[in-house]
Amino acid sequence: MWTDIATHISQVTDSPFQVKHHRPVGGGCINQAYALDGGDRAFFVKLNQASQIGMFEAEALGLKQIYQSQTMRVPRPICWGITDSRSYLVLEWLNFGYGTHQSWEDMGRNLAAMHRVSSDRGFGWDQSNTIGATPQPNPWTQSWLDFFLEHRMAHQFRLAARRGGNFPQQAALMAAIPDLLAGHDPQPSLVHGDLWSGNASVTVEGEPVILDPATYFGDREVDIAMTELFGRFPNEFYSAYQSAYPLDPGYDRRKTLYNLYHVINHFNLFGGGYESQANSMIASLLR
Ligand code: ADP
Repeated sequence: MWTDIATHISQVTDSPFQVKHHRPVGGGCINQAYALDGGDRAFFVKLNQASQIGMFEAEALGLKQIYQSQTMRVPRPICWGITDSRSYLVLEWLNFGYGTHQSWEDMGRNLAAMHRVSSDRGFGWDQSNTIGATPQPNPWTQSWLDFFLEHRMAHQFRLAARRGGNFPQQAALMAAIPDLLAGHDPQPSLVHGDLWSGNASVTVEGEPVILDPATYFGDREVDIAMTELFGRFPNEFYSAYQSAYPLDPGYDRRKTLYNLYHVINHFNLFGGGYESQANSMIASLLR
């Protein structure tokens, strides 16, 4: 397997690569990750079952889209494929360090620049991807309200129903969403889509990086909201973002709605207490 992956890396980088060492890297929740060391070059490799190749391809294309926007550092995708009944994704190796105030300011400013990248096809993306391991549909849609209602909330609620989720105020919430988003007219922004603190990091040189995206064109507030879901980013991030691209009034209320998507997704992935967390969020949105 490693030889096949090394051959693929050699082909796409046009320079011979041989694996000298490989070692597992911890920290991921979905895939197995490895460091591949060839002496003068290193790569980061994710492995999963062969059936997950679509997930890796979508991640690679998302990274490519962000990489090409030249606004925010991401690990450059190198190649992906299937070998020995495993799917693999090879990325540029990055050495992570500790963020300074400056790094987090840069993170805020760079994310604002990324969010200014728009699409003339509306909200969505060229293909579906995954959020965690959950399929995430992205059909191009002109209205953000229609996109968020159908392809985000209704989609997760359908999956949750199959999992036995009980959300007594689901219908009331779905009926209230047009009011919750009334007067809000976002432009389609290139978003990371899964921007919790585990997916934001800083290189040893102090450069901010985002990882593991679930890319699409959406309301930029979905990214800012998610930075606040599982612990907040440092304050410098928010002040730099706000000066570069101020948030629209009403963000605090929409934040709960946008994060509800992720909490229901967490119920779909992990079950447990996420159901009651989602129900409290729904209750607060309906108050
Ligand atoms: P998963 O898709 O399984 O969630 P992640 O992308 O979160 O995996 O990666 C798992 C860990 O590997 C991260 O916590 C990070 O420390 C490390 N990592 C991720 N990408 C790179 C990279 N390009 N170079 C070096 N280490 C990386």
